[in-house]
Amino acid sequence: MELKVGGSFKCPEGHKAKIVWISEDKKVVAARCPREHLKKVVKVIGQTKPALSYRDQPREERKIYVKNMVFLIRI
Ligand SMILES: [Zn+2]
Repeated sequence: MELKVGGSFKCPEGHKAKIVWISEDKKVVAARCPREHLKKVVKVIGQTKPALSYRDQPREERKIYVKNMVFLIRI
């Protein structure tokens, strides 16, 4: 398969991504995927039980998704 900028490539989650950059040695490509990806999960202190001590307060997970994420993929 020939790689070129503008061509398609699979992102790490298996979506169809678009190649936006290829390294000179053609060992790394940057592919931008239009689908949403989980960027990170942040923990926030829940507001539900304020009576508990700080250590025991429930933590809620908030997921952050991003579209058009660019992946650097070693090939
Ligand atoms: Zn993707």
